[in-house]
Amino acid sequence: MSPVGAPDPYRFSTRWNMKKPKNPISRKRDAAADRQGGMCLYCGVLMCRGDTSEFAANFGLRPAQAFRLSCTAEHLVARQNGGGNTGSNIAAACWHCNQTRHRRKEAPDPVAYRNLVSRRVQAGKWHMKNVFEAGLLCLGTTHLIHPAL
Ligand SMILES: [Zn+2]
Repeated sequence: MSPVGAPDPYRFSTRWNMKKPKNPISRKRDAAADRQGGMCLYCGVLMCRGDTSEFAANFGLRPAQAFRLSCTAEHLVARQNGGGNTGSNIAAACWHCNQTRHRRKEAPDPVAYRNLVSRRVQAGKWHMKNVFEAGLLCLGTTHLIHPAL
């Protein structure tokens, strides 16, 4: 415990290994992603959890495609509907699924949305062809269960 008024050690540090601790929501997202085996709750894609350029290079994608597969914190009950940042309300979803769900005026129920996305994935849609070709979508894995669902 630093004494009151002591300088924040992070504020004055330029050392790369003195990064500020991750904020709690990203920790909850990471924990959810670990529970989900690194796969998106809705589409089952293997999410990009680090550098998008590296991920893109590894899987033969364009950087913008890798960005769409980035791991995000998904609020099962949308924030606009009073959903909080509690662990039980946070799942891990790819950017594309997350954005698409919350782009609607009223976010669909997570289970209904997962079923909808799953049907699109089974039909070879939802993500670009090369995402499928890269083996990032393991068909049949969209049954992943979040403890709150
Ligand atoms: Zn997804």
